[in-house]
Amino acid sequence: MSLNDTKAPHIQLAIKDHFDALSDKEKKYAHHFSRASHLGTRVILRQVSPESEDIYNLILAIAESVKQDYSKLVSESVSKDDVRSFLEYSSQFLSNLGNFKSFGDAKFVPRLEQAKFAAIAATANQTASFDKVADAIYSTDKTLLGFLDKGHVTAYYGGDITEDEITKINDFCASKTIYPENTRVWKTGPKQFELRIASADTGIAQDTQFDASYEIPDVGTLKLAYGDSKNEFAKISEEMAAAGKNAANHTQEQMIAAYVDSFKTGSMAAHRESQKFWVKDLGPAVETNIGFIETYRDPAGVRGEWEGLVAVVNKERTKKFGALVNGAKEYVSQLPWDAEFEKDVFTPPDFLSLEVLTFAGSGIPAGINIPNYDDIRLTVGFKNVSLGNILSSKSSNEKITFLEDKDLPLFEQLKGPAFEVQVGIHELLGHGTGKLLSQERDGSFNYDNANPPIDPNTGDKITTYYKAGETWGSVFGAMAGSYEECRAECVAMYLLTNKQLLEIFGHTGQEADDVIYIGYLLMARAGLLALEFWDPATRKWGQPHMQARYSIMRSFVDCGAVELKSTKPDFSDLTIHLDRSKIPAAQKAVGEYLNKLHIYKCSADFEKGSALYNATTNVSEEMAAYREVVMDSKQPRRIFVQPNTVLKDGNVELVEYEASEEGNIKSFLERQV
Ligand code: ZN
Repeated sequence: MSLNDTKAPHIQLAIKDHFDALSDKEKKYAHHFSRASHLGTRVILRQVSPESEDIYNLILAIAESVKQDYSKLVSESVSKDDVRSFLEYSSQFLSNLGNFKSFGDAKFVPRLEQAKFAAIAATANQTASFDKVADAIYSTDKTLLGFLDKGHVTAYYGGDITEDEITKINDFCASKTIYPENTRVWKTGPKQFELRIASADTGIAQDTQFDASYEIPDVGTLKLAYGDSKNEFAKISEEMAAAGKNAANHTQEQMIAAYVDSFKTGSMAAHRESQKFWVKDLGPAVETNIGFIETYRDPAGVRGEWEGLVAVVNKERTKKFGALVNGAKEYVSQLPWDAEFEKDVFTPPDFLSLEVLTFAGSGIPAGINIPNYDDIRLTVGFKNVSLGNILSSKSSNEKITFLEDKDLPLFEQLKGPAFEVQVGIHELLGHGTGKLLSQERDGSFNYDNANPPIDPNTGDKITTYYKAGETWGSVFGAMAGSYEECRAECVAMYLLTNKQLLEIFGHTGQEADDVIYIGYLLMARAGLLALEFWDPATRKWGQPHMQARYSIMRSFVDCGAVELKSTKPDFSDLTIHLDRSKIPAAQKAVGEYLNKLHIYKCSADFEKGSALYNATTNVSEEMAAYREVVMDSKQPRRIFVQPNTVLKDGNVELVEYEASEEGNIKSFLERQV
């Protein structure tokens, strides 16, 4: 439990230029898709906590009642600061779509006494609405999302249902191919359960193979109840159908038809169909996705949270990335290993840089890799997208910590451009490189096994390889994700110093040198901030990218290019000092690290690879001592203020809002969902 954030940076999603560049038809497609996405707002609120939807209604009713002139809420017992606290709570609530943080799943309560919130509600004639939820807003005995019988909160489940009953119901549903993503489960009486399925229709579809109810041994009766959030799904289906009329191609039409089927009837099989078309819809001007996607917030990990994305392809950046891919051969040849450890033909991963117009969900990620349906990923494929205006966003009141004053102006100026180059190399040349030395099913090898390549790190011949049926994931297991991110980040750091490559992104002369400097500083700072995601109690890392960045920062420190300076025993004045003249040394160090990561990956050498990665990501006593100051200087999470689109006289207009608590609340009021 915590109090709501104060002075959280609010950021307006930068989208106008990209949106304006769309054709009228594309704008209409984006508009209807956005409306469908936002119409799921209450669906999310209903998944988070039992009180979330009422709090949402209360906040909007108060704002409406004073016509958004919040000075009217000031009274004898309520100060201007109190009203500010109310606005801060409200904005954070709206951006998380609930009173639990989307990042960390912990409850937050108003930084405002209950009596003062009550007075604000009274001024706005909302006393009854406030009284209905006051206890739930302020209660601090259940502060985490999780199973009800374990003392936690969730609205994926209701009644006095236990984890054990949920597990048995989930297993039973899996055995009948009743997909769980768009459902919630309620215990309605002794041995009586309801599987609430999100759909516009309230009856079972004619052609479904499912029964109206099932007897589950040791559990009881499970009734299939269609029509959960039926009003919302009726409208969502309408908006999706309208989007379909503005589709750019037949694939999009088929995709939309499958979505409409799914949202009308509650069929998750139809949603799976939609995703097959989505994967095949390559390089659309307007990229989208919608449905019950990520399952992180269901304590059982199978029910999805509603999510709707509408984004515009960043044509300029896509062009730069294209040039990077065209020059890949040249750049890849500069990496520290021999051709034997590289693919014969460079195959860049499918990767798009998007600018977000709409993200309806409890929190906006910086990148997505979907669909999550494993069978579709294997047989049809998936898409890897990076959300540019989320990644490179910056707000005016965000403090940049741990840098020396002399570096601040250049950092502010080139942080975005340096990060753009880093992301491009990471995604395309980083993840795109490397040949896995493997034995094929027929016993043959994809390399000269009789005369294996030399490990450049030791001068010895390679002795290990991927046996038939083995994959990178199966050999490296739980470590694979972070290890691969680290390899890609190292490639980014190693090639960032390449002037020819920087020219693709428009950086020449002194600016190119500055981009290199800021790029290395950015990585060093990310590596220090990473300590937030390391748990001193278990000595475990919680975030794969941050674990990787920590180890790269360590390599900069170990070679003497970066120094962490502090004069105080509590490190409260800790700063990162990067010596410009030692960037070549840092690049050399990262190259040596990369060469080992790469060779061990290519040769399936888990023994050496895991020993290396465990050592480089181990947090020494010295580094662990910095964790407290990193935690203390943590800033509140950013709040993105999203625009709306409106259809006026057959034209779609973009309406943007001020980057503030007031602007965020206004965007929700005008959305009317
Ligand atoms: Zn990556």
